[in-house]
Amino acid sequence: MEITIVGAGLVGCLLACFLARRGHRVVLYERRQDPREQGADRGRSINLAISERGIDALRRLGLDGGVLDAALPMAGRMMHAPDGARTFQPYSADRAQAINSIGRAELNRELLNAATSLHGVEVRFGRRLTAVDERSGRLEFAADGSQDVVADKAQVIIGADGAYSAVRARLQQLPGVSFSQDYLDYGYKELSIPARHGRFAMDPGALHIWPRGRSMMIALPNPDRSFTCTLFWPHDTLAALDTPGKIRAYFAEHYRDAFGLMPDLVGAYQGNPVGHLVTMRCSPWHVTTEATTIGLVGDAAHAIVPFYGQGANCGFEDCVELDRCLDEVGDDFPRALELFERRRADTDVIAGLALENFVEMRDRVGSRMFLAGKRVEHA
Ligand code: FAD
Repeated sequence: MEITIVGAGLVGCLLACFLARRGHRVVLYERRQDPREQGADRGRSINLAISERGIDALRRLGLDGGVLDAALPMAGRMMHAPDGARTFQPYSADRAQAINSIGRAELNRELLNAATSLHGVEVRFGRRLTAVDERSGRLEFAADGSQDVVADKAQVIIGADGAYSAVRARLQQLPGVSFSQDYLDYGYKELSIPARHGRFAMDPGALHIWPRGRSMMIALPNPDRSFTCTLFWPHDTLAALDTPGKIRAYFAEHYRDAFGLMPDLVGAYQGNPVGHLVTMRCSPWHVTTEATTIGLVGDAAHAIVPFYGQGANCGFEDCVELDRCLDEVGDDFPRALELFERRRADTDVIAGLALENFVEMRDRVGSRMFLAGKRVEHA
């Protein structure tokens, strides 16, 4: 059977692998150009923490080894107090149970390579979905760099096109489809701590957190020995630092130990965009007509805030679950997507946990810092 997937991001590519393994022909439409030939998108998070939930999905396709080779294990969290003191809290007594920092672009490339190496998978880049008609199964795409409209028709359409999904936008217009989007009053901005004299400037075996009550900064290590830092701050705080002097003074006061490790702080702060933090819910995730079945997976179905580090992991698990549903009904897609709806119970829970964990990370871990952790050094 031919399946059309909209979005060749992390989840779309992995789903293509699962479906190709089942013997289906898969066409992926992706609005960007091939990221293996172009640079990564600006404004997306640079790296991600991949945990057992996601690795399990990769393992089922034999992709875990390649992905983990490019990842850095983080065995615990390193808390940075305002005075510069650091405290390490392991995630588990077993140091092997780590979460893994991996570059988003690297992971996407790896998954694209895996998908395109399989028989029956084709990716059409530079095609942005602009319309989908559930009555006919017709899809329309804007072709990159021209006014041309490219049309296609499909019996099975899967929207893996992210939090602002165009496929979901069509489903939302249909009677019986409920949808909500909840924004936090917070934004995120990425900064960098470069390598120092060719070495990591901090411990690369930890996820670093600077809990500051209402806000926080985190940092994940990269293979080039830099760290990507992410500020999760209220929008008014982000906007208030509108001069180089204010930026430097704020970091010197609140992020004392990191401040000295960020030579390009002002340039990055002023140049990097502010991202939004949103929880999206949609129900149902699928619609079936005589002509087609349309379903949603990954962020298109259930975008969550990043504080549990589970968005991509959860999307990978969607692929495993949809694969299992297809097993149950002998590749009858309308029935499989119906069964897949039972997964909402899990994704609703993780969405709630992700919101709660923001308070935990920015506030509670800080107040418990010296009770539960091992004080390691004073900067
Ligand atoms: P996306 O990655 O958004 O991919 C969607 C794809 O669809 C893209 O390639 C896009 O170009 C394409 N597309 C979009 N619209 C169209 C269209 N109209 N036509 C054609 N193509 C289209 N998750 C974790 O598991 N661990 C983490 O540590 C983590 N950290 C995060 C940190 C931040 C700051 C943020 C914002 C998110 C984080 N996440 C994390 C969540 C994770 O990024 C997402 O859950 C994951 O990217 C979802 O994958 P996806 O394939 O569903 O969507």
